[in-house]
Amino acid sequence: MDNKTIYALSTVLGKSGVAVIRISGINALEVVRRMTSLIKTKFKTRYAYFVDLKDISGKQTLDKCLLLYFKAPNSFTGEDIVELHTHGSRAVISTVLDNLSRIPDFRMAEPGEFSKRAFYNNKMDLTEAEGMADLIDAETEAQRKYALRQMEGNLKNLYETWREQLVTLLAHLEAYIDFPDEEIPENVVDNINNTVFKLRESIEKHLSADNIGERLREGFRVVIVGKPNAGKSSLLNAIAKRDVVIVSDIAGTTRDAVDIHLDLNGYPVIVTDTAGIRETEEAIEKQGVEIAYQKINSADLLLCLFDASQDSVQVFENIKKTFKNKILYIANKCDTLSSEQCSILAANGNIVISAKHQQGIEVLLDAIGQIIQDKFTVNSNLLITRTRYREALSNALSSLRLFNLDKEIELSAEDIRLAAREIGKITGRIEVDEILDKIFGSFCIGK
Ligand code: GDP
Repeated sequence: MDNKTIYALSTVLGKSGVAVIRISGINALEVVRRMTSLIKTKFKTRYAYFVDLKDISGKQTLDKCLLLYFKAPNSFTGEDIVELHTHGSRAVISTVLDNLSRIPDFRMAEPGEFSKRAFYNNKMDLTEAEGMADLIDAETEAQRKYALRQMEGNLKNLYETWREQLVTLLAHLEAYIDFPDEEIPENVVDNINNTVFKLRESIEKHLSADNIGERLREGFRVVIVGKPNAGKSSLLNAIAKRDVVIVSDIAGTTRDAVDIHLDLNGYPVIVTDTAGIRETEEAIEKQGVEIAYQKINSADLLLCLFDASQDSVQVFENIKKTFKNKILYIANKCDTLSSEQCSILAANGNIVISAKHQQGIEVLLDAIGQIIQDKFTVNSNLLITRTRYREALSNALSSLRLFNLDKEIELSAEDIRLAAREIGKITGRIEVDEILDKIFGSFCIGK
């Protein structure tokens, strides 16, 4: 990272009332000196000034805008920041950016660079930075809430507490490594073992939350399965027609799988229609069936749909065992049945619908929403929102499981050191340059 002053448009490029251009770095005040008539010395931090923004030759006014100054270290990046709130036209934005590029030691920011500088200046750890990225990406209410919590440091506090405990343990062990003739007193051994045991338990519990955090970011996967002609596509269409809940839709090829994205009670849900599952020799259909199996295996919930005029739940006998807690049975084509038959099906725990005639869809969506909500209520507020956290925590846990004071103390210390390092990777409290570029590279410019 160089120490140039960086700038970028922080709002979306297009036509809008206001656009925010952010400038951060040791020379940020050069903007005030070169592009406004405000006198640098009389100029105060955290005040908004209405200015004529000039080009850098001072000849022409580019726009009338608001200018704010945040003096280091009390700014988002921890550096001097100047914000220009200009009018949001492409022409204004482009000429302002062009003029900024001509100021010596100024350059356009790379994606995520403002946040990266904030991280380097200890304004936030990596989980908080990623929480902020999630907040910007949030499309549903639950996503917004959890992202905000993460941005406010709930995961950072948890992981830092664990890491600090490990570092303290390590310091104890190192002391005994330095004095090999000293026997570790029994009460110290008990204490160390106890701490490691409790940490292992806490990490195991945290890891056991069923990928809920990742799903919150990416969407809960609900997959419709059933024999050909059970009415799967009709059901997907029936759900899609309720445009109140639709966020967007993405279509695959008809033979593989079609997804629709919903917002159910604030939770993001992806409903997938699969090719009918049956024995087939036809090449393309075979591929479709294979894709269906992949989707089924990664599903959080299976909607097992059957044509109630012909079949029963028996058709799902082969998948029942593997997915038993993840299945909702849905009896379709209730319009062809007597009301008595429908009542019996419902009494046996099936959700009774007619996809074609849009009956029972509301009840079905409520049932799906409830299942997802229950998963959240059961799990704590501290969700693992990224695979990289899960991997690091699993690695830390493996090291802690190897820990045993009966072996050589150097080896025991190494187990603790590795566990601490893995947890440090999550928050960024160790040298993690190699993962930083990966994380911030996925941010958009101006963030
Ligand atoms: P898929 O192969 O499982 O995707 O099934 P489709 O959605 O293509 O439906 C197969 C056939 O069943 C079509 O002729 C649909 O019109 C019909 N169908 C689907 N749902 C219903 C329903 O609720 N009632 C009736 N009577 N027919 C339905």
